[in-house]
Amino acid sequence: IRAAAPGETPATCPYCGVGCGVLIEHDGTRITGVRGDPAHPANFGRLCTKGSTLHLTAGHDTRLLYPEYRARRGEARTRMGWDAAIDVAAQRFADVIAEHGPDAVAFYISGQLLTEDYYVFNKAMKGLIGSNNVDTNSRLCMSSAVAAYKATLGADAPPCCYEDFDHADTILIAGANPAWAHPVAFRRIEEARARRPGMKIVVVDPRRTDTAAMADLHLAILPGTDVWLFDAMLHVLLRDGLADEAWIAAHTEGFEALRAHVHGVSPAVAAAVCGVAAEDIVTAARWWGEAPAALSLWCQGLNQSTHGTHNGAALIALSLATGKIGRPGCGPFSLTGQPNAMGGREVGGLANLLPAHRDLANPAHRAEVARLWGVDSVPSEPGLTAVELFRAAREGRVKAIWIACTNPAQSMPEQALVHEALAACDFVVLQEAFAGTETAAFADLVLPAAAWGEKEGTVTNSERRISRVRAAVPAPGEARADWRIVCDFARALAPRIGKPQAAAMFAYASAQAIFAEHVASTAGRDLDITGLDYSLLEGEGPQQWPFPAGAAVDGADAAARARLYADGRFATPNGRARFVVPARALTAEKTGVRYPLALTSGRLRDQWHGMSRSGKVARLYGHADEARIELHPQELARRGLVDGDLVKVSSRHGELVLRVAAASALRHGMAFVGMHWGRRALNSAGINLLFGGACDPLSKQPELKHAAVRIEPV
Ligand code: SF4
Repeated sequence: IRAAAPGETPATCPYCGVGCGVLIEHDGTRITGVRGDPAHPANFGRLCTKGSTLHLTAGHDTRLLYPEYRARRGEARTRMGWDAAIDVAAQRFADVIAEHGPDAVAFYISGQLLTEDYYVFNKAMKGLIGSNNVDTNSRLCMSSAVAAYKATLGADAPPCCYEDFDHADTILIAGANPAWAHPVAFRRIEEARARRPGMKIVVVDPRRTDTAAMADLHLAILPGTDVWLFDAMLHVLLRDGLADEAWIAAHTEGFEALRAHVHGVSPAVAAAVCGVAAEDIVTAARWWGEAPAALSLWCQGLNQSTHGTHNGAALIALSLATGKIGRPGCGPFSLTGQPNAMGGREVGGLANLLPAHRDLANPAHRAEVARLWGVDSVPSEPGLTAVELFRAAREGRVKAIWIACTNPAQSMPEQALVHEALAACDFVVLQEAFAGTETAAFADLVLPAAAWGEKEGTVTNSERRISRVRAAVPAPGEARADWRIVCDFARALAPRIGKPQAAAMFAYASAQAIFAEHVASTAGRDLDITGLDYSLLEGEGPQQWPFPAGAAVDGADAAARARLYADGRFATPNGRARFVVPARALTAEKTGVRYPLALTSGRLRDQWHGMSRSGKVARLYGHADEARIELHPQELARRGLVDGDLVKVSSRHGELVLRVAAASALRHGMAFVGMHWGRRALNSAGINLLFGGACDPLSKQPELKHAAVRIEPV
């Protein structure tokens, strides 16, 4: 085991998509400490505040320890053995399928599951049950980036790597605050700039975040105006001769339509829409166009939008129009929110995907997957995506839902509807490590899952790097690995739905066996990893994909893996990257007289998602000890409010009572709140009850970065 001392087990941090390697210190039964893995190429030993306090989250006081069940709503759940729990789950799912068909059941899973967990959930729904109703909280996170990559580059493959931070002359960070959300990656950017002071950093964000504070240029655009900004930057690149016309002609298609589209979007036109100075747009475009190497980074600020796909496509167009892709320090690079949103995408664990980047809409791909799994067919109709799924449940079209490793009763938008949906379902299963989440209140059957430090498997980080995750200690009580729970359920379900022979599809002895099947499914695909197995990952360390059979771990093969499309050939049928003409929509929800403030939300530096884990660590409250809604000081003053006052925050979707905080980092007319706070902090379900369910029609990602609100003193 690389760099690990006796009593240390290598794993990865279970928080963000940077995917830092950790060494878990333990005595075989208890986790006692954690340190960064100096041999892991994502972090070289460095950890942020969340990662370095992971061992403090490993106690068992808030863990689910035993299966619990209630036969009727309104009753308390009581402890049940595993065999009985699996039988109940299988029988009740089978009953719903028999009466209402396979599309009346659904899985709602998580980007925090390991790749092996994701693989068997996907196979159970699409290969056994015969529905595509498996979606995930990654829908709230990266689905717009997925759709943008596929529309432009032809595959869901982030083309860059962290080493590109060291080579970029200009870095354009749009809709991301890596200083808080991806701290170890951000530190690498800071160090790169310290070594190369000529590097320019441009940050596009309505807030003056810590990331924006270190930028050479901060474009504090109005919410939802990103496409206008990127179109105007392209306008300047063309006007000033900074586009690479020869490269465009040789390697792309569709550019003339985009050229015509941006012709009228001068910096002055965009400045009026975006609320920034025209000369700043020109500066940003020139820094991009004149830099020998230019890199863009983006995250939820672009993705969580009703035009998130076009936000991403318009940003990617800047790389394509200047031929700045496939070279060191160049390209469009989506920062993944969750630790394994990438792995989930690789195994096709969303309602519109199939394993190994195959397309649901492609009959040949469906036939390949059916052959791989040994089933007659996989269904062709896309399943329900996250927002659609809970709407369908409220309407009675989904009767049974299985939720794993996520907390939709707190994290989904339009929470009132989600709560009604969960209450309306005949049967709700919750597979979860932590007790007392908002979703647990709705669950008829609770299944205790193993957590970080207790599980074997793999994850993939933002730069396509697959790492082994290892168990250091046994899971507490009767908690089990997620993949094992799913396989036990699938084997029990198969005979009950008339497919007894299908039980053999889930006869895995280990996570390693599942990984081997996933590996085989990637043969010949853009993410071919037929050269990988557990022993190579353990012996040689984490590896980027693609890693086909026969590839070497180092040398030219490793260099080729570091960044994709170096030969100018893309993953489209004709090898040409595609320019997309983006719609210049604004936010779906409008501010106005009744709701005059534009509310946005985001990660705080020291908390994670709904705080099930990070909320256990006292020292992580030192940075932010309670939920506060931030406004510009003059916005507070003209309402007669002072820092610390309590206010009622109302949107079209719900209301909360929060304390206000003065923040000159915000534009007038805007408000910000950390995304993490839930019932224990708010006496209400969660911050996202203020946000609606309007979605990007292409990616089906909801507009979680914007809601129109008003505040009133209480
Ligand atoms: Fe964990 Fe992300 Fe921090 Fe790394 S940067 S230690 S992966 S939270």
